[in-house]
Amino acid sequence: MGRLKSLLRTLNVWLLPETALMAGALAFMHYADRATVAGFAQFYPYAVYGAGLLLAWRFQRSRLFFSMLLLALASFALLRTAAAGPHGALAWRVTYQCVAVLLPLDLAALALFGERGVLTRAGVLRFVAIAAEVALVITLVRRVPARAAAILQFRLLPGVLFHWTPLGQLALAALAAAVALLAMRLLFREGRIARPALWGLACVFLALQTPRNATAVSMYLATAALIFVVAVLEANYFMAYQDGLTGLPARRALNEALLKIGESYAVAMADVDRFKQFNDNYGHDIGDQVLRMVGAKLAQVGGGGRAFRYGGEEFALLFPGKSAEEVLPFLQEVRKAVEETNFTIRGRGRPRKKPESPRTTRATRRSVTITVSIGVAERNGRQHTPDQVVKAADKALYRAKEGGRNRVET
Ligand code: GH3
Ligand code: MG
Ligand code: MG
Repeated sequence: MGRLKSLLRTLNVWLLPETALMAGALAFMHYADRATVAGFAQFYPYAVYGAGLLLAWRFQRSRLFFSMLLLALASFALLRTAAAGPHGALAWRVTYQCVAVLLPLDLAALALFGERGVLTRAGVLRFVAIAAEVALVITLVRRVPARAAAILQFRLLPGVLFHWTPLGQLALAALAAAVALLAMRLLFREGRIARPALWGLACVFLALQTPRNATAVSMYLATAALIFVVAVLEANYFMAYQDGLTGLPARRALNEALLKIGESYAVAMADVDRFKQFNDNYGHDIGDQVLRMVGAKLAQVGGGGRAFRYGGEEFALLFPGKSAEEVLPFLQEVRKAVEETNFTIRGRGRPRKKPESPRTTRATRRSVTITVSIGVAERNGRQHTPDQVVKAADKALYRAKEGGRNRVET
């Protein structure tokens, strides 16, 4: 059971929901009959780009806006030039290779640069850049298609290595660079933006692999757009339900968990001891680091407990199916774990108030002990609404503070 859960969590972190969307598109393209797919491809892109633009506007997501714009433009350019037939073979080739070079790099750049607005200076710059790219492609196609095709299809490595793809080597290099940049971001910073961008690129790649199939091109590019749309929806969900500082589920998530928890459970409230003083001594930023550390320790609580950030320096632990008595040892364990964590303050200790030795700029490493007090209560005959149980846990917490802190009370 535990193993299944951790497998699901791993899948969730790396693959969902993007792979589900991509697999859905692939399966549909393979198993539905042609007429159905072609019919669907008539309106699916409009629905996705429309929804994307609407969301971008309502949620003020400039990245989503520009991604929709780029994908729709690429789709249009590929379908439009393909429709010209054999007359426009050269124009099509140049357009296709240009799109294949520019689109992955543009999408990666959008993901790597922050959210900077649409009608702002940064937004206008992005418009200008996109317009310049469109102008460049049109100029190449109209003025010097043969030379452009020669450059775009330039072979650095032997051609036999690339029989599996219609993409030129330049386009492949651009794609590889985009993937590398995003993968670096995924590994070293965070995945909420890089992950959907990578899977979006995978869809773009699928589209570019079958450039002559108009239905496939518009289906896969629109699926890339759908991945970006879903990523924005997910990010909004996380903003509401997850605490940005500690990464723990937030109070709203606790309230919802309490609504569906069932007949028996225990709730513990944990509060950092003398934290105001700590903040005053070391500053708010270091206080935040402490909260992260405490959150991480509490998240590891045993007994099937789940940690939430309740607000400020208060955390809640929810134990489904447990009594207060049963969870005591687990609470003692996390209390000790916090106490035994040596919190090292690196660099200059920057006291905010009453500095003891004002001019000590030399790097110091001080180790401070952080403790938490915990109060726990269970659902029973006396207290049966979640509200009452949380209040009872709060009262127990108060007793723990009164009793000298760094302790657990029922
Ligand atoms: P006690 O042992 O009685 O709990 O004392 P305390 O100082 O921890 O209690 P109090 O509730 O008076 O202080 C809580 C402080 O927590 C106030 C505020 O400065 C700090 N705090 C609340 N939220 C945050 C936060 O997100 N970051 C940081 N750095 N500090 C916070
Ligand atoms: Mg408090
Ligand atoms: Mg406190």
